Amino acid sequence: MATITLNKEYFFHNLNQIALKTGSVEKIAVVLKDNAYGHGLEQMASLAHDFGIQHAVVKNSTEAKVIKTLFKRVLILNDEIIVDEVFSFALNSLEAIRKAPKNARVELKVDTGMHRNGVALTKVDEALQLIKEKALDLVGVMTHFRAADELSSVLFWQQKNFKMVKEKVHAFGFENVTYHSHNSAATLRTKNFSEDMVRAGIAIYGYNELPSVYDEVSLKPVLSLYAQKTATRTLQASQCVGYGGDFVAPKTMTVSTYNLGYGDGWTRGESADPYITAEGLPILGRVSMDFITLESEKEEVLILNDAQKAAKHFGTISYEMTTGLSKDIVRVLV
Ligand SMILES: *Cc1c(COP(=O)(O)O)cnc(C)c1O
Repeated sequence: MATITLNKEYFFHNLNQIALKTGSVEKIAVVLKDNAYGHGLEQMASLAHDFGIQHAVVKNSTEAKVIKTLFKRVLILNDEIIVDEVFSFALNSLEAIRKAPKNARVELKVDTGMHRNGVALTKVDEALQLIKEKALDLVGVMTHFRAADELSSVLFWQQKNFKMVKEKVHAFGFENVTYHSHNSAATLRTKNFSEDMVRAGIAIYGYNELPSVYDEVSLKPVLSLYAQKTATRTLQASQCVGYGGDFVAPKTMTVSTYNLGYGDGWTRGESADPYITAEGLPILGRVSMDFITLESEKEEVLILNDAQKAAKHFGTISYEMTTGLSKDIVRVLV
């Protein structure tokens, strides 16, 4: 199986860039959902802790338990709410508020325009009333932007809505509430951050997904993917490689199989438009479940060190490239 390396220096560089935007490390919550976007939950959580990060965001309680001892607060985006001194739970609907146990630490998610999760603007009063009646411990109020990476007015309209929500929360008398709305894109483009916290995901891993007009923050990809050689053979001209024989050797050539395939979460792609590795080697023929073939005899090859570049090739986004990588791939800190 392939290997992933995680570059600590680059990760700290990215966190520093974000801290420059927020004004302090305390205001950064690292988003570690989905195995830290495929980077490795435990490793990334522990590095974030070493940097001084105190807040993390994960998908569910299973992920939260793995990293619980490393952070002051772990926000769980979507799971059954329990009472816990470290975990806080996003309230995605009025129904969730009704089901939550007394004293649970919760963060009200408000739908300011993305229309995915959260309580509608028109229901915020009802939600706050319920939270009060049920004696839930409201530690946060949040919203999520649908287009922080686009040049449009939508972001400003959502921010205006969120401001109204803040006023309501104040009016209801809730205190010590952390307000947060910024994902990576909103954080990277902000000029004067004034909220309590950001939820930074893709940027901490080293990808700036903003269009180039905003492109002033340079980030460094933390993850590299390597594959190791399994077997080498010599092909005669006109011999083919792999399923369907899609690659036909134009001349005598030496090729090797490497231990990476779509079973490891690598994108299969089209053999007619092969992915070219970070070292300039095109994948020959079809990607198998556990193997690819390259014209190389090296023991180890660097497949990818910039998921954004690879994503462009496959017509997807950096998020999907890294998040898909199998949990079973060994992660090594460098
Ligand atoms: C995933 C997620 C984020 C992080 O988004 P990035 O674009 O990766 O920074 C922030 N907030 C919520 C609610 C999320 O689900």
